[in-house]
Amino acid sequence: MGDRVRVRFAPSPTGYLHVGGARTALFNWLYARQQGGVFVLRIEDTDLDRSTAESEEGLLRDLRWLGLDWDEGPGVGGPHGPYRQSERREIYQKAARSLLESGKAYPCFCPEELLEAKRQQAEAAGAPHHYDGTCRRLAPDEAKRRMAAGEPYAIRMAVPQKDMKLDDLVRGRVEWKAETLGDFIILRSNGMPVYNFCVVVDDADMQITHVIRGDDHLTNTHRQLIIYEALGKPLPVFGHVSMILGPDKTKLSKRHGTTSVGQYALDGYLPEGMVNFLALLGWSEGVDQEFYCRADLIEKFSLDRIGKSAAVFDQTKLAWMNGLHIRALPPERLGELVAPVLRQVWPADARLHDPAFLRKAALLLQNHLQVLKDAPGLLKPVLEGAPPENEEAAAALAVPGAAGLYSAFVEELGRIDWKRETINEALKAAGKKTCLKGKNLFMPIRVRLTGQCHGPDLGLVIDLLGLDEVRRRLLG
Ligand code: GLU
Repeated sequence: MGDRVRVRFAPSPTGYLHVGGARTALFNWLYARQQGGVFVLRIEDTDLDRSTAESEEGLLRDLRWLGLDWDEGPGVGGPHGPYRQSERREIYQKAARSLLESGKAYPCFCPEELLEAKRQQAEAAGAPHHYDGTCRRLAPDEAKRRMAAGEPYAIRMAVPQKDMKLDDLVRGRVEWKAETLGDFIILRSNGMPVYNFCVVVDDADMQITHVIRGDDHLTNTHRQLIIYEALGKPLPVFGHVSMILGPDKTKLSKRHGTTSVGQYALDGYLPEGMVNFLALLGWSEGVDQEFYCRADLIEKFSLDRIGKSAAVFDQTKLAWMNGLHIRALPPERLGELVAPVLRQVWPADARLHDPAFLRKAALLLQNHLQVLKDAPGLLKPVLEGAPPENEEAAAALAVPGAAGLYSAFVEELGRIDWKRETINEALKAAGKKTCLKGKNLFMPIRVRLTGQCHGPDLGLVIDLLGLDEVRRRLLG
């Protein structure tokens, strides 16, 4: 194996990209980018009944949305392809045959019904149900003769009777007792390889140096280590990352809320917010910092700071963190991002195609928004105007001298060179003229413009609406 780090994300296209899978992908991607390594995407679609093309497309789309680009894999190619397991069957068959030839595996002629009957018997007796080794004991000549005669056979590993151990990067020393594993099948009699075999053949073939994945795969690792050894391939470094839990400390599921990355994208989360949040699910730099941009993460990420304990997925924190990333955006960019969300609600509003207007809308939203989809709700009173929303608002309009204030303010606004600062000066000047100040000065104007006593910075609201609209609302 070369020195270059090669990691992979190996999703099964049987559903959407789950936040747990996305976290696994992210850890691998960060490590690859930091180390100048290679990030491989491999589609594990051996389960043909459950794998779908739509699911694969969705996975790729969501990974792209997160900005986790792959160096080898579907759509990109690479020297170790194909990168879909369904297209690699011959590679697995060849590898299984090589184990047969080297005696590390053997043909098993036991019919499925017989195996099933034995399994049930063992279960009834409460005994562990491992393969009983009938075909392992066959004389080599007889096995050869039966194969040549065209009798169907599966290929089974001749599992060595020895304990296995692994020094896992995250979990430390993990050990398995020899007696917990019987001779397992690697290639079924219909030519279909089994999952654990494919994973090892692929990881070896693709020269993967580090396998970082969820610890739900730790039980598979016992079989996988045996396959590596039999194939004579060097072991990668393994790191099994703890599961993600819901706030009630049970395994994260739909009961806890959205778990689909694609849904978060639709709901107006930023990939930057999502990436930051996912990175901290199990990894920490060990300092008091939560806001990380992508470049920071690439620089700071380290495998040895992945924690052992399970991380809790807290949606409130995700929304808060997303808000931090919204505030970090240049307003032009935020304007571009909210534009489609706003246009859905106000399809006929031509202003929503004007970059200068969108930039101002972004400035107004930026400090108040956690997710993009909340933008229309926040902007509605500003864009549409509204009658006073409650008694407090109605009372603000009843301030003596309010009518004079509106005309004085409009007059002042008409005089200025329109800018954020000069808008505030016009307001002050109108206050002087009408002897109104503080709340009595800005509250009637705010309510007259938006119907609300509270809301975004008044100067920003006025700047966004422009003189004509302000005049219309104040004097109309
Ligand atoms: N295909 C497996 C999954 O989607 C991942 C296998 C692995 O990472 O070794 O969970």
